[in-house]
Amino acid sequence: GDRSEIDVNEVIDGALKIAHNKLKYNFDVQVCFGELPPIYGNKNELSQVILNLVINASQAVDSGRGTIKVNSQCKDGDILIAVSDNGKGISQEHIDRIFNPFYTTKPVGEGTGLGLSVSAKIIDSLGGEIRVESEVGKGSCFTVVLPVEQRLE
Ligand code: ADP
Ligand code: MG
Repeated sequence: GDRSEIDVNEVIDGALKIAHNKLKYNFDVQVCFGELPPIYGNKNELSQVILNLVINASQAVDSGRGTIKVNSQCKDGDILIAVSDNGKGISQEHIDRIFNPFYTTKPVGEGTGLGLSVSAKIIDSLGGEIRVESEVGKGSCFTVVLPVEQRLE
């Protein structure tokens, strides 16, 4: 989509407001914003990525016992957006497949398996990547890495 200068923290804030309206918010959300330079990109696409990660996190936690942390920082020329949860985690045998289109472990109607593959494509188009760390029974952390200086394509 169309690109313009965007304030990543503002996009995170907006995505969390949408999540708050859409989800039965039965978990804690802790947000910690770092000071970030603007980046060039599409607001709606970045918003979609953050929303996908937050929805996944909300579906991974136990009702009433979940904590989802969202934080942003700028480090070594990259903007890092981390969405972590204390949910069920992802096993080693599944973790390589979660970015594949249509890969889902959710019941029909709850997941299409497209959230992460679409998110990865969006972030790739901005020259970045999505990293994941997870431990079964402890939780997961997805980190969106976006270079501040982008090569213009
Ligand atoms: P969907 O949410 O429709 O299943 P996604 O592409 O968003 O599709 O995610 C693919 C799969 O990755 C999920 O079905 C789930 O197994 C796993 N996954 C993604 N995020 C998390 C998370 N935060 N905690 C545990 N598993 C996750
Ligand atoms: Mg999803």
